[in-house]
Amino acid sequence: MVFMKSRSEFRFTAGRLSLDLAATLRRRPSERIDVLAPEGASARWLRDAGLVSDLLTLSPQQEVEIIALREAIWIVADTALHGDSLPRDAVMLLNTNACYPLAVPQLDAVTGAIRFIADNPFRTALASIARDAIELIGGPQRGQIKACEQPDCRMLFLDTSQSSRRRWCSMDRCGSRAKGAAFRSRHRPEPSGEELGGHGHGGEKQGA
Ligand SMILES: [Zn+2]
Repeated sequence: MVFMKSRSEFRFTAGRLSLDLAATLRRRPSERIDVLAPEGASARWLRDAGLVSDLLTLSPQQEVEIIALREAIWIVADTALHGDSLPRDAVMLLNTNACYPLAVPQLDAVTGAIRFIADNPFRTALASIARDAIELIGGPQRGQIKACEQPDCRMLFLDTSQSSRRRWCSMDRCGSRAKGAAFRSRHRPEPSGEELGGHGHGGEKQGA
């Protein structure tokens, strides 16, 4: 389903399509960055996620709808992560979006690529995302949803690592930031007059 990832302006690292959409609002606990805010970004995201074959021109209402779906996914997944009862309004929004039919995938004999045929490509794209969220949160993988351990990030992702010890949304970003911070704290000069040296070396093990 997901092609063109490597050339995308967006990140598709959450491990699930629905969580990738939720992650388009970055750094939720701190200085939020909405990567769908620029003009046309939502349409490009749908294309880069492999949900539509051609770039759509979204109406203002459709822009509102994809953001509403994004926020519903985030609140339902975040609530599920904490084991609380799910917010009804957000669940209803997921269920409503999931009601629409999916696009029909067709293999292009010339290019070898998939083309999606749909009467309403926008509706089918949102239906795919909503179904993904429902299957994720209602299924056995719910327990593998995690939040990035960086306090200013907290991006939700699916931990599919063998050890189930994935801690960050991405090693390149929050993982390396955390390791850099841990390194600096281990090598910070001791305050003068306090040559205790107790916690300097050896360090705590940083999992992947
Ligand atoms: Zn992160």
